[in-house]
Amino acid sequence: MQHVSTRGAARPLDFRGATLAGLASDGGLYVPETWPRWDAGAFRDLRDASYAETAAAVLGPFVGDSLKPAELAALVDAAYSGFAHAAVTPLVQLDHRHWLLELHHGPTLAFKDLALQLLGRLFGHFLRDEPAPLTIIGATSGDTGSAAIAAVAGLPGMRIVMLHPEGRVSEVQRRQMTTVDAANVHNVAIAGSFDDAQAIVKALFNDPAFRARHRLSAVNSINWARLAAQVVYYVYAGVRLGAPDRPVAFAVPTGNFGDVFAGYVAHQMGLPVSALIVATNENDILARALSAGDYSRGTLQPTASPSMDIQVSSNFERLLFDLHGRDPTALAAAMAGFEATGRMAIPEAMRLEAAQLFRAERVDMGEMAATLAHTLAASGQLLDPHSAIGLAAARRLAGTLEGPIVTLATAHAAKFPAAVEAATGVHPMLPARVAGIFDRPERCVRLPAEACAVAAFIDGLPA
Ligand SMILES: *Cc1c(COP(=O)(O)O)cnc(C)c1O
Repeated sequence: MQHVSTRGAARPLDFRGATLAGLASDGGLYVPETWPRWDAGAFRDLRDASYAETAAAVLGPFVGDSLKPAELAALVDAAYSGFAHAAVTPLVQLDHRHWLLELHHGPTLAFKDLALQLLGRLFGHFLRDEPAPLTIIGATSGDTGSAAIAAVAGLPGMRIVMLHPEGRVSEVQRRQMTTVDAANVHNVAIAGSFDDAQAIVKALFNDPAFRARHRLSAVNSINWARLAAQVVYYVYAGVRLGAPDRPVAFAVPTGNFGDVFAGYVAHQMGLPVSALIVATNENDILARALSAGDYSRGTLQPTASPSMDIQVSSNFERLLFDLHGRDPTALAAAMAGFEATGRMAIPEAMRLEAAQLFRAERVDMGEMAATLAHTLAASGQLLDPHSAIGLAAARRLAGTLEGPIVTLATAHAAKFPAAVEAATGVHPMLPARVAGIFDRPERCVRLPAEACAVAAFIDGLPA
């Protein structure tokens, strides 16, 4: 399977190439050149399959010749064997209509582990014969950094340098990064903001000599392999609830549009998905885009669901590509207009086409907190703020949908203890398997918010 750039000027790549490239060289995002299409029998065949078996089946068509079937099977086995629940992503019933799909049983308690645990191993496999190590560099305001570190720690052939703004990530988030005891993990606390840290990463990527010397790479959410890995749990949950013979709706707490786009891919492959509910917080660019055609940058509002506090949803470009009939020239022009003006008017015909599947709802902090409290009282489940936003949106739309509605529980409540306690009066406990972060020593260097200081640090790392 070849993968094409949404903007059409970069050359198509196979799965290995698209995984290692991340962003396309023309600024676009890689997508498979066609969506694989399964018949009903292919879904029925997965009724008794484990998560890892489902992953191998779903990823097979995308991976193509980049991996032998036995290699793919071994990589998914390794990626998901470290999860704390035997079902990997268990479904939990809330009432006669609503289910939770728990995506927080991985090492860092958020759904990003599902993609990154596999992505780290894909990098390791694809680069196993390379002489010099790959240096993965990133800036994080919390969740992605710990998931990326957990994915790369101890793997041969690569190291990770993760920048975070000193004093501006929560203690749990910081300790999840700094207590990882692996020689190839390097944490850097930057004396500055998250934007400063991100600007440093950009500056290092924009220095061709430095980039080549350290074989710099990134594992951010525009990487196609991450999205492909997320298609798996839609299929796994859908089949368990009766697909292909019964349609299922999914409600997805959304930031960068990566997770919900994976649901769209499952639908394109033939999974009967009756609706994809795009749940946003007060940062509602997606809700405005999908309900009024107004895709325009707003001002960032900090909320109790920080992983959804975004102004621009980078993966939305992949849906826009399909809505533009996969015409890269038209899409590139639309994106250039957006990048210049900060706004894009989505033509009504395209918006209506998207609305056949996507339903967008904005949920504010008050409704999020009420949903947390109600769900604990009614079903005994302690949600995290992101998942509560998804469930609030699902409840609003339940009357307009048929069949089961699955809300993606994207993080464990203990990742966001303050907001959960404020809404419910209950202090969520960290699961025992991660509570050790409070006992282990932290490893982190402090550097000024200057690209040259970080470059010198990386140059000084042992090879
Ligand atoms: C990253 C994240 C999201 C948003 O996912 P996207 O793929 O960016 O839409 C939602 N919830 C949690 C807990 C996250 O970490």
